Amino acid sequence: MTTRLGRHFIQIPGPTNVPDRVLRAIAAPTIDHRGPEFSAIMQDVLPGLQRLFKSAGPVVIFAGSGSGAWEAALVNTLSPGDKVLMAETGHFSNLWERMARKFALDVEYLPGDWRGGVNPARVEARLAEDKAHAIKAVAIVHNETSTGVTSDVAAIRRALDQTRHPALFLVDAISSLGSIDLRTAEWGIDVVVGGSQKGLMLPPGLGFNAVSEKALAAAKKAKLSRSFWDWEPILEANKAWSFPFTPNINLIFGLKEAVAMFEEVGLAAVFARHARHGEAVRRAVRAWDLELQAANPAEYSASVTAIRVPEGVNADSTRAVILEDFDMSLGAGLGKLAGKVFRIGHLGALNDLMIAGTLAGVEMGLLRAQVPHQRGGVLTALDFLARDSGRTAKKAAE
Ligand code: PLP
Repeated sequence: MTTRLGRHFIQIPGPTNVPDRVLRAIAAPTIDHRGPEFSAIMQDVLPGLQRLFKSAGPVVIFAGSGSGAWEAALVNTLSPGDKVLMAETGHFSNLWERMARKFALDVEYLPGDWRGGVNPARVEARLAEDKAHAIKAVAIVHNETSTGVTSDVAAIRRALDQTRHPALFLVDAISSLGSIDLRTAEWGIDVVVGGSQKGLMLPPGLGFNAVSEKALAAAKKAKLSRSFWDWEPILEANKAWSFPFTPNINLIFGLKEAVAMFEEVGLAAVFARHARHGEAVRRAVRAWDLELQAANPAEYSASVTAIRVPEGVNADSTRAVILEDFDMSLGAGLGKLAGKVFRIGHLGALNDLMIAGTLAGVEMGLLRAQVPHQRGGVLTALDFLARDSGRTAKKAAE
């Protein structure tokens, strides 16, 4: 076995780097989840999460991954046979769509080419046709982690408003929460689906649903079977700052610390940092003369970039070289993009030097794996990071 020195670079788009102070918070001894110390933490965490989600309604915390929170969003709001409008953006929209079908929901899936986001005009046209309001929910992925494409959630909200359609609005924010602005209350989102292991800077293990009043009302009538994922007993227990099951107590210690970090920095500055790091990565990609999977600059993701490798190159072999020789994990191509793209996660707790190191690892890997490319991506990114200190963006955000 080789002894690795320094930190492993985990540059996949989740799980992400966990800050030392969050790790230290998690490393505390476990406490009684029905005791006063834990309820004091919950009194801090639950309102903090609402601010993070920009939600007027409560945020439900599950012991589970993002997929569990996907399931919770469906089973709490819908009944078997209900029509749901979804849109194909990539691997994760596909997984959510398949899950909805397993619950006997009648999914209408707007096809996509995995290079763009949800098309608001198509959603609007479909909603306008649905005069009888058969569509009970519109469910979309905000940031498609498999392609590095961010959809315009506010525009989808406008499509619902313009057609005066009463459908619920469900949004997967698993790889955008805490990285890309999402205004749950302002944009009338009924359920936001989140997970701990991406922008929130925590290890995996917590799933979230931010829930609107309309969604709570729908839950009273929804007939899909649910037990563990049922919001009601959790929200009831939360009134006494507790849970109906044993929560992952130590992750909630970490969550408290992560929420405190967001409040210290301010969400606007966090979003500006992600946008700037995304821009640095894309400038490097352009200098390498490689192609982005995302086709439309208005939809470039601030949290992840998917990079296409030239014909005849296997992206997974390149990633393997980078892991073996430079101790850095990059995201694999998923679904139909397997072997065709690699992904750089630039979300969570990152600074300029970590972005620079990541890009250096990629450029050395491209060279070592003999992937046809132009040199100079790192220099281009360094130039951008050095000239644009981020202070302007930070100022604008304040
Ligand atoms: N949705 C998106 C956009 C994701 O990126 C992921 C995971 O990467 C999921 C859903 C599934 O979440 P999990 O793997 O935590 O179950």
